[in-house]
Amino acid sequence: MTYEPVIGLEIHAELKTRSKMFCSSANDPNERHPNVNICPVCMGHPGTLPVTNGDAVGKVIKTGLALNCQIRESSKFDRKNYFYPDLPKGYQISQYDMPLCGEGFLEVGGKKIRITRVHLEEDTGRLLHPEGADYTLVDFNRAGVPLMELVTEPDISSGEEAWKFARELQLILRYLGVSDADMEKGQMRVEANISMSKNSKLGTKVEIKNLNSFRAVEKGIAYEIDRQEKILKAGKKVIQETRGWNEAKGETFSQRAKEEAHDYRYFPEPDLPPLRLDNERIREILSEIPEIPSVRRNRFKSEYQIGDREIEIFVFNKDLGEYFEEVMSELKGWDKVSQGEFFELAKICANYLISDLRGLLKGLPFSQDDLQITPENFAELMTMIHRGQVSSKMAKQVLTEMFASGGDPSQIIEERGLVQITDETAIEKIVKEVIAQNPNPVADFKKGKENALQFLMGQIMQKTQGRANPDAVRKVLNQEML
Ligand code: ADP
Ligand code: MG
Repeated sequence: MTYEPVIGLEIHAELKTRSKMFCSSANDPNERHPNVNICPVCMGHPGTLPVTNGDAVGKVIKTGLALNCQIRESSKFDRKNYFYPDLPKGYQISQYDMPLCGEGFLEVGGKKIRITRVHLEEDTGRLLHPEGADYTLVDFNRAGVPLMELVTEPDISSGEEAWKFARELQLILRYLGVSDADMEKGQMRVEANISMSKNSKLGTKVEIKNLNSFRAVEKGIAYEIDRQEKILKAGKKVIQETRGWNEAKGETFSQRAKEEAHDYRYFPEPDLPPLRLDNERIREILSEIPEIPSVRRNRFKSEYQIGDREIEIFVFNKDLGEYFEEVMSELKGWDKVSQGEFFELAKICANYLISDLRGLLKGLPFSQDDLQITPENFAELMTMIHRGQVSSKMAKQVLTEMFASGGDPSQIIEERGLVQITDETAIEKIVKEVIAQNPNPVADFKKGKENALQFLMGQIMQKTQGRANPDAVRKVLNQEML
């Protein structure tokens, strides 16, 4: 029997609210000046009292509902006591034994990962250690910002599965509009607990902190699995400890041994009343939940029949996916578009949005507000491609023009003289010219060299600036060389 990796995640996400968790100071993650969004409440001055931010409570409930969690109608806040310079009050208001959300699950790659709980707490300030200085600076803008903590059961079995879970959660938080969950900005922070089990018996776990990118989540866990496996195979024991992740070295390193549990002396927060949620409020929040990514994936599959890769791009790049839907809804409204054609158009459209339009954006994020192309004009170009009225080469030219100046495709085609030559008599004339000018390739073709046909086609395309309809050219060329 070999060792199996067992992984549980603890994920923190800063909520997107106007004010902090227990006071009216602004919650502005983009504030550059230190210690401006602070007040006596979040600084823990004596005599001040906290007031619960109802929007933050609603956002955690919304997340819990989207993650199939049980919602607790009555709950409370607790004090978690510890001393650290980024914690002005000397305690953090958190939730101990009555989290807002209880058991739930999230499906990743067809596997259900159970969620233990989701609770609400407040964030700490930020310590800055200037290089070479013998002092530390502290910025309390973040102190008291609403922070959601999600804990999973140890159901994850690889680094890959862990990052997929974290990414799916990030996507859900963004769809729900509860958090931007940007890992680079520290708005979402992942801690992983890893152990190796044998014969279904759990082993000693190690916690990795500071995993601040999806790559770090994957690589850090993979490294730790490998490290623990080697220790166990050598007949030694894994020590329970907290480890950090060194991105440059690609290694985890020991931070502190965790022999005994911290004594946080949790007790119910005496300055806040218990939380009560009536069913009506929960129903109201439920009704505000938009379509979540997993539901959208399934709908895109049945409604447009595009590939999984394309669906994933549209679900992840939500605005681009929504633009795709607008283009497709234009096409649906047009008469003469059959069901079969609709699916073909969906494939063409997905392709042009994902490759060509994103190419024109040169790495900038898609935003419909900045885009000059209306869904109607995009749809029109798609039908022209589908009906063979423009070659793909011309279509790219037209799209570039539409991207730069707006404008509708048929007008651009007319103005630029890009109208495709489909008339066979006109094509015949050009084909005859090319045949007369290229006796050798023609002879080669007659000897059975297929390459010669490509060459001749190329000559014709060059003569017409790519405007000749390729199917018609191929047909006439074959006829003329018989
Ligand atoms: P602690 O009290 O040390 O914080 P918890 O029971 O709260 O431990 O669990 C924290 C996280 O560790 C959870 O995500 C849980 O699923 C995970 N976990 C618990 N036991 C193990 C284990 N043996 N191996 C891996 N992960 C574990
Ligand atoms: Mg814990």
